[in-house]
Amino acid sequence: MSKYQFQTEVNQLLHLIIHSLYSNKEIFLRELVSNSSDALDKLKYLTLVDDNFKSLEFNPRIDIRFDEKNRSTLSVEDSGIGMSREDLVDHLGTIARSGTRIFLGNLSGDQRRDSNLIGRFGVGFYSSFMVADRVEVLTRKAGEKKAHLWSSDGKGEFEIREAEREGQGTTVTLFLNEEGREFASRWRIEEVVKKYSDHIAFPIFLHYDKIEYDGKGKEKSRTPEVSQVNTASALWRRGKSELQEEDYREFYKTISHDTEDPLFHLHTRAEGTLEYTTLFFVPRRAPFDMYQVDYRPGVKLYIKRVFITDDDKELMPTYLRFLRGIVDSEDLPLNVSREILQQNRILLNIRKASVKKILGEFQRIALEDREKYDGFIAEFNRPLKEGLYTDYENRETLLELIRFKSTKVEGFTSLEEYRSRMLPDQKAIYYITGGGEAALKKSPLLEAYAKKDIEVLIMGDEIDEIVVPAIGSYKDFELKGVNRSDAGEDLAADKDGDREKDAGPAVEKIRKALGDRVKDVRVSVRLSDSPSCIVTDESDPTFKMAAMLKAMGRTDFPETKPILEINPDHEIVRKLKNLEDESFIEDLSFLLLDQALLVEGVDLQDPSAFVKRINRIMAKAV
Ligand code: ADP
Repeated sequence: MSKYQFQTEVNQLLHLIIHSLYSNKEIFLRELVSNSSDALDKLKYLTLVDDNFKSLEFNPRIDIRFDEKNRSTLSVEDSGIGMSREDLVDHLGTIARSGTRIFLGNLSGDQRRDSNLIGRFGVGFYSSFMVADRVEVLTRKAGEKKAHLWSSDGKGEFEIREAEREGQGTTVTLFLNEEGREFASRWRIEEVVKKYSDHIAFPIFLHYDKIEYDGKGKEKSRTPEVSQVNTASALWRRGKSELQEEDYREFYKTISHDTEDPLFHLHTRAEGTLEYTTLFFVPRRAPFDMYQVDYRPGVKLYIKRVFITDDDKELMPTYLRFLRGIVDSEDLPLNVSREILQQNRILLNIRKASVKKILGEFQRIALEDREKYDGFIAEFNRPLKEGLYTDYENRETLLELIRFKSTKVEGFTSLEEYRSRMLPDQKAIYYITGGGEAALKKSPLLEAYAKKDIEVLIMGDEIDEIVVPAIGSYKDFELKGVNRSDAGEDLAADKDGDREKDAGPAVEKIRKALGDRVKDVRVSVRLSDSPSCIVTDESDPTFKMAAMLKAMGRTDFPETKPILEINPDHEIVRKLKNLEDESFIEDLSFLLLDQALLVEGVDLQDPSAFVKRINRIMAKAV
């Protein structure tokens, strides 16, 4: 016998599950049955493709037993792939995915918030400890002679010893605690299995005692009985008309481990040159690992109802990685190797058609159910934006689907809606990037647009900096960043020669004072209240972009120098024109530049020089 310690994160997870899911403790049974079903899926696949397993006697089934008299134990048994000693240590003692570990590290300690979060990733096997003081796992891996018994009370340690088991498979036995006693009941088990696991593709048998009563309600006899408690047909193969909302919801929860209902689903069957069924779900909230490199793909591949893989990231494009569901093909050969799946023509076609269908469904919801769509966008706008530069084929559709914040409306708006609000002679679609939404909304760059009633899209997402330039134009209108030097087109009417000439001496003085700190100093057409702002030249990366490139370790891009624009009507600029004191002019010029940089969220090169200048000016003013 050997003793092992749980990995720290497992302890954390156990603690969290026990303290946050107690009101929903019945899900432990769903998790155990779903693990058994996965184990049967894996072995079924091997018996079909691997010569070593072809002769194996394989009678796929799940058996549930319980001790009705003492209400002390409940077991879930399968004839699936089983686990070796190493598997037991790796799977039931550690958390392999770094995504889950990072997630656990980020928990707040606030029980209510954390319990909301935990529903978003699979609680799995460990949920057994909600209803049991001790759990034993007797398992034998297919193809191996030795069996092992894993056992633990869930308090930091587990032990493994050699054991005997007839045939391959796994039996999980729970020694029920006070909380778990209610589950040692035929009716309770049937209820839970029906609710969560009815569609499991393998038969689930419940073993119980049939009790006969005499006329006075006294027990007359007990006979052991076994009956199948699930329908055992692949849900996605059933007709839509046969299925209720409820069926889809519960199915979603078993395949996704989500505790919340899905936002919506899309069930389609293709018949014709290619025959396949797909059932996709969009979660209500983004999967916790959506932004992690080792995110877990949520779409499982089946061939003629046989599970093939749940780990194929190519099955759907990366930007749709939040989807959950099933693809079941009739045309692929069962023995297709997982390696060559990725270049498989049939799969590529299924993927292509599915993406079109899914995006079409998003469009339909956008049109028909604004509230639902807003909920969807709040979670998934960002991955959709990734699609803009990865899925050229569906770019037009994606442009219709993506939403933006704006200076004109509350909440989200689409490019189409923006277009419908454009001024009659407006020449371009304007947007601002370079920081968070709140900061952008206050940017001085927006002043003149506001004054002329021109709407500007607020692009406060990090990814916007990369995505938006890739959009280029929308329905004949170019998208222009207001922090770009050429974005004054629609403001140019205000440009009058006299104003420029008037401000000439001020521009000259500032230019001289700033020297090569700036690319140029110009009279602005976009300012009304602020004295100055900065813009960047068309050919340079924006400051934000430059910072992102630097963070990625890139150095192969030109340094961005700001173009300083000044407001000729502002008091500071008007007075500066007539000043002679060169060091005073220099202080003012640098402060005009630095304040504009600060508002744009750009770090100052020399903060202490900035403070010194402020102090000199303040000293003059007091
Ligand atoms: P998940 O199922 O989400 O991976 P679990 O904690 O429920 O997480 O299970 C961890 C792993 O333990 C599984 O991925 C699987 O490899 C293994 N496992 C659990 N139950 C069984 C079983 N009945 N048969 C074979 N392997 C199992």
